[in-house]
Amino acid sequence: MDFAYAALVEFAAHSTAEREYQEESPMRIWPPDEAHASRPAHTRPDRQKPVRLLLINPRSPDSFWSFRWATDHILVHERAPNPPLGLATLAGLCPDHWTVEIVDECIEELPSEPVADIIGICGMGVQHPRQRELLTYYRQKGYYTVAGGSFASLCPERLEGLADTVVAGEAEYIWQQFCDDYEDGCATPLYIERGSVVLSDVPVPRFDLLQLDRYGTASLQFSRGCPYRCDFCDIIVMFGRKPRTKTPEQIGRELDALRAHGANSAFFVDDNLIGNKKLAKELLRYLIDYQKRHDYPFEFGTEASLNLAQDREMMELFRNAGFGWVFLGIETPDVESLKAAGKTQNTTMDLLEAVRTIYSYGIDVYAGFIVGFDNDTAEAFDRQYRFIVDAGIQVAMVGLLTAMPRTQLYERLEREGRLRLDIMPGDNTRAQTNVVPASMSYETMIASYKALYRRLFSDEGIAQRIRNKMRYLRRPNAIAPRKPLLTQLRLLWRTLAHGIAPGGPRRWWRFLSTLRCPPRLWPIVITDWVRGLSMRDYAERYLGETTP
Ligand code: SF4
Repeated sequence: MDFAYAALVEFAAHSTAEREYQEESPMRIWPPDEAHASRPAHTRPDRQKPVRLLLINPRSPDSFWSFRWATDHILVHERAPNPPLGLATLAGLCPDHWTVEIVDECIEELPSEPVADIIGICGMGVQHPRQRELLTYYRQKGYYTVAGGSFASLCPERLEGLADTVVAGEAEYIWQQFCDDYEDGCATPLYIERGSVVLSDVPVPRFDLLQLDRYGTASLQFSRGCPYRCDFCDIIVMFGRKPRTKTPEQIGRELDALRAHGANSAFFVDDNLIGNKKLAKELLRYLIDYQKRHDYPFEFGTEASLNLAQDREMMELFRNAGFGWVFLGIETPDVESLKAAGKTQNTTMDLLEAVRTIYSYGIDVYAGFIVGFDNDTAEAFDRQYRFIVDAGIQVAMVGLLTAMPRTQLYERLEREGRLRLDIMPGDNTRAQTNVVPASMSYETMIASYKALYRRLFSDEGIAQRIRNKMRYLRRPNAIAPRKPLLTQLRLLWRTLAHGIAPGGPRRWWRFLSTLRCPPRLWPIVITDWVRGLSMRDYAERYLGETTP
């Protein structure tokens, strides 16, 4: 049976398999029963023999997020945007006498025969095929294998039989339980977290195990969970709707560790940093103080809900804490689609004004968009194009509506018989989706989606967005250039030689048109060209030709 067919069969059988797997597998559930709760963790004197754990982050398929053209031609030392923070956190949870190594296939080769007792392989939806391959490979070689990550958390049954142990859910408590059981020789095939982790229990991630200089930015996490109820969102399925946070002091310790390892930019990976506004403001005040005390060592970025634009105090705090950019889930300018998807928080404001207000605080905006809502006809693509261009958003991640397992959307479409079971959900930036659209044919949707990208990443599409952004982002918050002058000149030269020149006189002309702004904005203009050309390169390779 080939892999695609196996995946299809497995996918179709999802609901039943999930139930049977969880009913039949010997497993540990957290919180544990009383007998297990009384077991002291990692305290017995016989726990002296070192256990060697290798943690692997499988390579991700190429996507808009990989910015491959930029890492191949411009930022040649950086191999991936972000390090595998989850694995560094997991490493921090291991007993002291374990030795842990992290290998990230996004930046380096995997060892074929590593010196390890356990191999743990994580994965998001996009990494699932590779995660399966690696689990199979290392298990056949006789290693004890453990599968985890967000996809294993959403549907652990899809990894049944591929790993000796599957860890589903937040790992902080169940991982320690697994470590104990492994050393006692009684690890079970499945560990499930059914409660929720108190984030003050999370240790400082083992940043020392990551090659931080190989990534675009370091990462850390303040909160999990989001109070909203967007029906397509799997974050609220995994982390719940009550945001939980670390303490500001914990974040301070993580920043200390990042500074010690040379990081000068940090991405808060929270899906919505302002999910609990009061606690977010406390964090931001702490960060302002931290930056002052240490002479502004970091530029930050994060994800937040769009109501950030309605809270001037919050935006002021973002600016003063050194946030250079924020990723917003805008999704669509169509109010009816937003309402139908349960994203009502975006319907209470003028979206364009909201983006421009955030720019006015010096914060750059990246954003996610979705096409293929039930309300969307072929005209929706044009409205999306106009909005993205008017808002000047260069990092515009437009994806087809995708139904992830266990989301409200997935369950509704399953009831309506509108799920395509021949397509695995996961990477919503490819020209395919498991959702059968309601108001246009599937073929029209795919063709319109490709055409939207062709327009967005034409030279004029890139230039127009830069010009529109620069009207509002007058005082960018990106803290003074962090790279030495020579490095900056080298980057500029590479951008001109590999990016602008190959486009001929027309691209030169458009490039020069974007430099008609104060010179202090030029670094952002050039960075946006690099981002735009990177995304164009991806669109050309996977979605067909783009317009010159
Ligand atoms: S705002 Fe974002 S994180 Fe929160 S529920 Fe909606 S999509 Fe999910």
